[in-house]
Amino acid sequence: MSPRYACTANPAPELFDTEKLGMNSDALIKDFKRYYGTHLAQDKGCASGHYLYSSLALTLRDRLFNRMKHTKHTYAEKHCKHAYYLSMEFLMGRAMGNAVLNLGLEKETTKALNELNLDFENLIEMEHDAGLGNGGLGRLAACFIDSCATLQLPVTGYGLRYEYGMFQQRIENGFQVEKPDHWLQDGNPWELERPEFTQRIKFGGHTEYHPSDSGDMRVHWVNTNDVLAIPFDLPIPGYQNGTVNVLRLWKAGATDEFNLEDFNSGSYTEAVAAKNEAENISMVLYPNDASENGKELRLRQQYFLASASLQDIIDYWVTTHGESFDNFAEKNCFQLNDTHPTVAVAELMRLLMDEHGLSWDKAWDITSNTMAYTNHTLLPEALERWPVNMFGRLLPRILEIIYEINARFLREVARRWPGDKTRLARMSIIEEGDEKQVRMAHLAIIGSYSINGVAALHSELLKKGLFHDFYELWPHKFNNKTNGVTQRRWLAWCNPDLSELITDTIGDKWITQLTELKKLEEYAHDKTFQKKWHAAKLANKQRLAKLVKDSCGVEFNPEAMFDIQVKRIHEYKRQLLNILHVIHLYDRIKRGDTKNMTPRCVLFGGKAAPGYVMAKRIIKLINNVASTVNNDPDVGDLLKVVFLPNYQVSAMEVICPAADLSEQISTAGKEASGTGNMKFMMNGAMTIGTLDGANIEIRDEAGAENFFLFGLTEDEVTELKPTYNPRFIIDNDADLKRVVDLLESGHFNQCEEGCFDDIIAAFTSPNDPWMTVADFHSYVEAQQRAAEVYQDKERWIAMSIMNSANSGMFSTDRTMEEYNNDIWKLEKINPRY
Ligand code: PLP
Repeated sequence: MSPRYACTANPAPELFDTEKLGMNSDALIKDFKRYYGTHLAQDKGCASGHYLYSSLALTLRDRLFNRMKHTKHTYAEKHCKHAYYLSMEFLMGRAMGNAVLNLGLEKETTKALNELNLDFENLIEMEHDAGLGNGGLGRLAACFIDSCATLQLPVTGYGLRYEYGMFQQRIENGFQVEKPDHWLQDGNPWELERPEFTQRIKFGGHTEYHPSDSGDMRVHWVNTNDVLAIPFDLPIPGYQNGTVNVLRLWKAGATDEFNLEDFNSGSYTEAVAAKNEAENISMVLYPNDASENGKELRLRQQYFLASASLQDIIDYWVTTHGESFDNFAEKNCFQLNDTHPTVAVAELMRLLMDEHGLSWDKAWDITSNTMAYTNHTLLPEALERWPVNMFGRLLPRILEIIYEINARFLREVARRWPGDKTRLARMSIIEEGDEKQVRMAHLAIIGSYSINGVAALHSELLKKGLFHDFYELWPHKFNNKTNGVTQRRWLAWCNPDLSELITDTIGDKWITQLTELKKLEEYAHDKTFQKKWHAAKLANKQRLAKLVKDSCGVEFNPEAMFDIQVKRIHEYKRQLLNILHVIHLYDRIKRGDTKNMTPRCVLFGGKAAPGYVMAKRIIKLINNVASTVNNDPDVGDLLKVVFLPNYQVSAMEVICPAADLSEQISTAGKEASGTGNMKFMMNGAMTIGTLDGANIEIRDEAGAENFFLFGLTEDEVTELKPTYNPRFIIDNDADLKRVVDLLESGHFNQCEEGCFDDIIAAFTSPNDPWMTVADFHSYVEAQQRAAEVYQDKERWIAMSIMNSANSGMFSTDRTMEEYNNDIWKLEKINPRY
């Protein structure tokens, strides 16, 4: 604890008795009024929504914080093993609804607000999304910590408190425009600053070797430019079980002595500017999904997270256990969410050796028995590498440790495969070449006792391809943990109509045991149940139609099929294939080929990385096609297309309950898992998809007859690659030829010549890695099958029920049980609050 916050008083013990706060509407009203009138000093003048929202948030927060304190004390009393989830991203979305649901206060909150003549929905809408993540990986982290709290697992999340989260996306003239997301502008009532646990993080400087008191050499990392890491705690409530875990987010701050010389020499403004440089570390989330960032600031962020979190954990250890680290590895483990926090492997070595005097062997024994690594992608461009020069300048001590880890590791490889030089080069942490690089994935694998992929196919492909050498060396380290989503947010909260129907039919156990949904199977063909199921879907579609109308000015007819693709815009996810199909439907309509055509509303949403030119072009193409289609009187209600701006968690909460068809159409072998696919399935959408990522498991669970499969398999993609000839395929497919002709004629870019030339060149090239053209025909056929089934209402509803009923395995409760059983081995602790 920072000395500034050392205990100076000896208060009466009563001070530490925490009052249990009332959980009924009267108690909520009392607190709400106190916050509104006294704490926030509001009166009759103007009932600003912001203060009303804050009053409710603070009222709920009190209840969360009491439980959080109690949970923490219980963990401390039990001396239990603890896991730490280290992640550069936590895509939390809004907290209020989740707090109310998990505290079991839905009815009482609504009642209290009604008595105050306020509307709960209105207040919920005032909350700014906490968008501290790019997409799947960050949202997964949020679902994980929700499930851990529900399972009563002692798990703490560690991340960064970015001042600016994921950018806000606007669409101007069809193009994506990025606006800063200053989500903290109006304050954040859900967090608690903990300055007493501030840590110092070193950057720059150099190392010196001096003998310690006991005579052995100690390394001193000196002359550093330090930055402060200030923690903010967010409560993570379990579902109605008294457990509230913690998500601790670090904010960067300048040290007091920062550039003292500049201050003293009169360079006041320069010194203040330099101070900003320190604070920049937690200023902004890098908005790149699935591609390497490569910038110095990003490495600073990663080290900042790793060092602050590990120092925090070690400080706590020393407070409770003294300087003995003998059973540290029995009581702690660290899950690394992708390679982003992997520098933690070397940082833990540094802290144990340089700060706490352990030998290399002891420190390595602890490190390699506490670190576990999750890989999230097979795309080579996403594998993080850092130039050795930059690394050494920024983190000289850490680079030394990495070199030593590597030297010892390569000796082990050489013993196992004598003389195999190319293998050594392939497996080394250091990539040789014009500019030497540190391969973070190799550091992660070497330093971890568990390495997992996030879906069955993905984990197999890791062993077969990307990490094959390591798999040969350490097969026992590799395992699979198929992703999931929390059904609390992604069904119970976001789809109240369907949840009520499910609970009325099979009880409410599914909220914590999702496989209970299997009981819905027997109602799949029950006419009365089907009617109610359909009514819930229709109401959700009306809600989404309103959002679409308000944001895009386009009318969606709720009776039409809602065909939805929302996710990051990336070539491998193939939004392009989807829009080519839309153009095909448009072409059919223009040719009068509309007999038995199923009316469709196609919705796209998602952000492109700001520097990803092709992805941004694809957004423009979608918008131009949408504008042509929606404004053509020949098309009418048969087809509507929108690009919904600013896709984020709160938007998905409206979108996934309303979907009929979920587009999961990546090139086989490219999507690690996907989690959007699971949210749609849970909410009764049918998937149209390739055999990729978790789609395979989704289809296995739902049954092949309840899934619209198309496209090449991963093996077929690999096989076709050398002879791939898209122009030949186009020339031999009349439907596709017309689509490509329309595009090439400039029909969708009439006053924007050449606007889509790059897109056309990309998908018609024999080198197109995403093989869009290869899957077009099969995709159109699958779409046609879906359209035909949709017209058979009863069959469609039965399939929808079957999807939801079989989504049980895609709960993060199952995923977390598996992490715990196979990797963490934590005891579940009930704080009995
Ligand atoms: N972004 C948000 C807001 C999400 O909710 C999700 C997952 O549902 C994703 C991104 C990831 O989507 P996908 O798995 O389809 O790439």
